[in-house]
Amino acid sequence: MTESSPLHPAAALQSLLEGNTRFVEGRREHPNQDADRRTELQSGQNPFAVVFGCSDSRVAAEIIFDRGLGDLFMVRTAGQVVDAAVLGSVEFAVDQLGVPLVLILGHDNCGAVNAAAASVESGRLPAGYVRDIVERITPAVMAIRKVGGTIDDMVAENVRQAGSLLLERSPILARKVDSGKCRIVGVVYDLVDGRVRLVEER
Ligand SMILES: [Zn+2]
Repeated sequence: MTESSPLHPAAALQSLLEGNTRFVEGRREHPNQDADRRTELQSGQNPFAVVFGCSDSRVAAEIIFDRGLGDLFMVRTAGQVVDAAVLGSVEFAVDQLGVPLVLILGHDNCGAVNAAAASVESGRLPAGYVRDIVERITPAVMAIRKVGGTIDDMVAENVRQAGSLLLERSPILARKVDSGKCRIVGVVYDLVDGRVRLVEER
């Protein structure tokens, strides 16, 4: 089965949310995963969403949104932290491929957020390049600690801050969002029930 790509931000979001509902309810359709789709994609890709999510193995976007090949342009780092390569990847998808939606995908029980919270608590930073990850999540942890929130609030805040950072750092992306050609939406995925909930829309 082959499904065409939605071109508008609202339709793209709708398509992802519908796929997530199918996943949650155990009635996945596995669209765009066959040989016909491979042939169709031979000449190029036309994904309808960038999914910028955590690297966690339990949060596989094509599965939880019930999509297939050529649908989702994936960018993943632990804790979905933003760096220059992330910005370049998102800009490529939005500017060169015309992708109308950037979905930021965090999740509960995120090891990276937990590590950042533990680091702030203890005053000790982890060794190696994990330190880079933790440092980039620390502002979200600090913002929520200040208002006495929970670790789940930190997860949601980390998603929102990732969206802010993409817009602040990338004038190309900000122009696309201002003109209505692209939207940035943040969601948090629940590891147990499989559902995503919206935490941010721009
Ligand atoms: Zn994670």
